[in-house]
Amino acid sequence: MDKVIVKSPLSGVIYPIEQVPDPVFSQKMVGDGISIDPVNNVLVAPFDGTVTQVHSACHAVTITHQTGLEVMMHIGIDTVALKGKGFTAHVKEGQEVKQGDELISIDMDLVATSAKSLLTQVILTNGELVADVVKANGLAEHAVTDLMTVTLKRDTGDGEKESGLEVLSEALVVPNPTGLHARPAAVLAALAKKFDARIELIKGEERVNAKSVVGIMKLNVAHLDKIQLRAIGPDSESAVAEILPQIAGGLGDEGTTPVSVPASTELSEDQTMVTGPKSGDPNLLLGVAAAPGIAVGKAVRVREEVFDFEEEADDAHHENVRLDNAIEEAKNYLEALQINLHKQSDGAKAAIFAAHREILDDPDLLDIARSLTAKGKSAEYAWQNAYTTLADQLAVLQNEILAGRANDLRDVGKRVLRILTGKEPEELQLPDVAILVAEELTPSFTATIDTTKVKGFCTTTGGATSHVAILARSLDIAAVAGIEAEALEIQDGTPLILNGGKGTLRINPSDELIRQTLEEQAAMQEQKEKDLAAAGEAAVTTDGKRMEVVANIGGVEEARESITLGGEGVGLLRSEFLFLKRTTAPTEDEQYEVYRDVLLALEGRPLIVRTLDVGGDKPLPYLPMPVEENPFLGQRGIRIGLERPEIFRVQARAILRAGAYGKIRIMFPMIATIQEFREARQMLEVEREKLGVAPIEVGIMVEVPSTAVMAEQFAKEVDFFSVGTNDLTQYCLAMDRGHPKLASKVDGMDPSVLRMIRQAAEGAHSQGKWIGVCGGLASDPDAVPILIGLGVDELSVSVPALPSIKAEVRNWSESDCRKLAEDGIHCVSSSEVRELVGNAR
Ligand code: PEP
Ligand code: MG
Repeated sequence: MDKVIVKSPLSGVIYPIEQVPDPVFSQKMVGDGISIDPVNNVLVAPFDGTVTQVHSACHAVTITHQTGLEVMMHIGIDTVALKGKGFTAHVKEGQEVKQGDELISIDMDLVATSAKSLLTQVILTNGELVADVVKANGLAEHAVTDLMTVTLKRDTGDGEKESGLEVLSEALVVPNPTGLHARPAAVLAALAKKFDARIELIKGEERVNAKSVVGIMKLNVAHLDKIQLRAIGPDSESAVAEILPQIAGGLGDEGTTPVSVPASTELSEDQTMVTGPKSGDPNLLLGVAAAPGIAVGKAVRVREEVFDFEEEADDAHHENVRLDNAIEEAKNYLEALQINLHKQSDGAKAAIFAAHREILDDPDLLDIARSLTAKGKSAEYAWQNAYTTLADQLAVLQNEILAGRANDLRDVGKRVLRILTGKEPEELQLPDVAILVAEELTPSFTATIDTTKVKGFCTTTGGATSHVAILARSLDIAAVAGIEAEALEIQDGTPLILNGGKGTLRINPSDELIRQTLEEQAAMQEQKEKDLAAAGEAAVTTDGKRMEVVANIGGVEEARESITLGGEGVGLLRSEFLFLKRTTAPTEDEQYEVYRDVLLALEGRPLIVRTLDVGGDKPLPYLPMPVEENPFLGQRGIRIGLERPEIFRVQARAILRAGAYGKIRIMFPMIATIQEFREARQMLEVEREKLGVAPIEVGIMVEVPSTAVMAEQFAKEVDFFSVGTNDLTQYCLAMDRGHPKLASKVDGMDPSVLRMIRQAAEGAHSQGKWIGVCGGLASDPDAVPILIGLGVDELSVSVPALPSIKAEVRNWSESDCRKLAEDGIHCVSSSEVRELVGNAR
């Protein structure tokens, strides 16, 4: 049997791979191996071989031995996010290397301060070749220590069945912000290995074995790249059907919005079959629901604006002056637009253009442009180059919000380019009822859409959280993002039905379908108008039970909007949302000002501020958190406040001071024990006494089962409860709320969760306290009668849901709700509960 000695590529302390604080490695999803905490800064070749993969971020490299054994070396954890910063590769793919040759240099200071960990994994990625491995321990010396002695199997056949049905999937856009790096690649390979079929991942002309982590990484799949799967074998159909949605959902990668974004298929027509989230009907295209509503109209294609200009220029100074003037003109225009929108009380739009105005002050943008004019480029060329470079960089960031802003950057970039070139925006020829079809729409274009004619739009790019989607919702027109690229082939004038709630586009519908849809649309519109007209009225059941319906907000704008939609106050201000984009902690005064402004916007209505709730799925850039094995069960919610009292005390003081401007309450997140509550309340009390202000009501979130079960005891000490059903459901069912595979099962209507809510309500009421629900369940119309029946007093819902949830309350009698809830908790599943509600309507 062949043996391969893997020499240590680094010097340092050896750790078992099982101890690496990243499940992708510790659970050996990439393969078996060893981890090293490095003390030197050059990674060297572990044996003579060929460099078969160098990641574009230079943090990972694979060497293949002549026997076929592959060893991947992955420097640090989550270092892909550094996008190459701190690493210098000395080798290229395909290069032959000798044991001890330098592969990658590491800037230890930079990487150590920017990455989660420097632990470097040395992994045998094609474990199917390995019969046995003997691992070293203790200290390793680079190029000297025998890190692993690998005995290879004789038979290396992979058992794949190359015969059978061939299935080619549709093309998918990869949603992972940093592409298919080691983590998602490992998840994908592990999924693929479950099947007998040969499975390939295809990008453009290249295809690799989807069961090989290195193969996948070699493909260098970046954010928004289009990929396809090809499977041949007895289980090819189920392989593609199972794996494709996982890729669309981000393969469990952090920062990925798990939406399905089909893209055009670029393969030939003679493919055997197509599976995945395609409708199967050539006249029905699928996308992502971006703004609700149904639109019936004629197609109008909006094309990418093309600019004509010279690339070269003679006088750099002159070009800089031209650019400065154009930027200044664009700024003035945006400022005027913003003031105008504020006057029209359109805060959401005004905020978008305020952000555009700020983009124009970005020093990077100007630096790039000026460096090009200095090289003899025209102002137009330099500017276009600058904003597209930055937009492309933003688009791949791990921060979904910033990535979504790439479109804003292109938008504002084109505005300046139009001024420079003197090009007028092209006028669209619109029929009476139009549905726009585009690859991408800019926020400026969207904000100026003539809504008397345009009833909806669909784009092949984007998602539900983009500014364009937000604008569509504020314009009250239907929108679908990420629609299949076939949409771009639709001829102008083709009849269409766009369903913004379902994320579908029907091409050439029959007259009968158009008639039915128009009827449905009219009924929906009528209901919406009725709900909105009644939004200012109280939400009272038919037998007189009054429910308080308040809003969940993340900032001042939403507070204002909630009032116009009948919000009776704020049941949850997610204070962490106010500071998500910051890189430094907000000061007491900054926090105070925001809480004060929210209270002023609420005009006397009550406000519940939840103290900082980070950890688990909510990282804060300015608050680095230690890597934890179980973040949802670790330092999260109030535990952070108790461990770092200075953070808690600053926020408590800001909330107490803002109390002078209205009715403010404070609420602690993730309380699991009475001791936690007492400690937090004690700290609050100390600050209150120091400030000499009046006491405020102190409540807790009920989102941990222990608190629901002990509600009666808690109720003796707290002023109110608010049930966080998002977390309560995940902790009750032991299902990660963000897990791509479990998401559809984490349903707060599960009878076990309903029983906990009932127990919490009984506990609260036994001591004369009130209980609300601020988790997502409160915004779900089907859950409304159940929550009323369980004894809930307040529903805190997402802002747009305010009118419809109030209307839903008015549809029911409390006595019927009680019966329904009683039956609900005796059901065996959430779907049974939902059926029960459906039948009772
Ligand atoms: C919840 O857990 O239901 C809740 C409202 O808090 P968040 O979603 O912010 O964790
Ligand atoms: Mg929560």
